[in-house]
Amino acid sequence: MPELPEVEVCRLGITPHIAMQTVTSVVVRNAKLRWPIPDEVHGIVDQVLEKIERRSKYLLLRFSSGTLLLHLGMSGSVRILEQDTPAIKHDHFEVTFDNGKMLRLNDPRRFGAVLWFPEHLDLQGLLTKLGPEPLTDDFDHGHLFSKANNRKVPVKTFLMDNHVVVGVGNIYANESLFIASIHPATLVNSISEAKFNELTDIIKQVLAAAIEQGGTTLKDFTQADGKPGYFAQKLFVYGRAGEKCDGCQSVLEEIRQSNRSSVFCPQCQVLPKQKPAAKKASAKKKIKAKVVKKTTNNKATDKS
Ligand SMILES: [Zn+2]
Repeated sequence: MPELPEVEVCRLGITPHIAMQTVTSVVVRNAKLRWPIPDEVHGIVDQVLEKIERRSKYLLLRFSSGTLLLHLGMSGSVRILEQDTPAIKHDHFEVTFDNGKMLRLNDPRRFGAVLWFPEHLDLQGLLTKLGPEPLTDDFDHGHLFSKANNRKVPVKTFLMDNHVVVGVGNIYANESLFIASIHPATLVNSISEAKFNELTDIIKQVLAAAIEQGGTTLKDFTQADGKPGYFAQKLFVYGRAGEKCDGCQSVLEEIRQSNRSSVFCPQCQVLPKQKPAAKKASAKKKIKAKVVKKTTNNKATDKS
């Protein structure tokens, strides 16, 4: 699945070829993506693509009359091709520009999206609910700690929540937690502010390094047969369950969290003793609630 670094590298890869160019045609080969591609997308013909931005994993193609939003879903990729390049299987959508270049979306599993947001209809409804971009100053020291706010959520699930911070997908959550020596099941209410700040810096470094590494694949965006965007990189834990930890040679273990795989080193990432006090209190409350209910019921029975 393309994660934030891949989408950012994609943005960098396609921008020089199509920015400030005028659209000459739009072709929808299969409108049935995650949501149907709306007819309004044809309205960009004769318009200039002013710039390409990214928010989270959305690519935002800005035109004077609105924004064309692309999402690559599970398996999507975009390429820059010469116009009239024959389409292959799973090529669902394409935009051709007056310099002869064509942006084409290929998506075998069709979980991706192509949507149109006219100027008057602000994208904010969709995007403001998202947490900050991890590579900006909005994602600063103190942010994770304040979002954690004594919640009893495993830190891995917490990091992958787009309302906390966007774009930290499964690969980079696994990798960042390994480097920070935090067990993925650690509840966020047991992580100190200092540790969260260290994790914040690590997330930024891991994502920036991935984007830098992906920079070497920029030329692939113009190769018809290339699979751009999904770059091989050095990973410490992701996809390596059963292999040895680079740090201590222990065997890496795997657990499932929110239906996603978490791989960690049992030696380097020790699960701290979770605060049991809160649990006991709530259990007590439940018992109390039951007793109260029972008493009330009895009373009711007595009355009748
Ligand atoms: Zn280890």
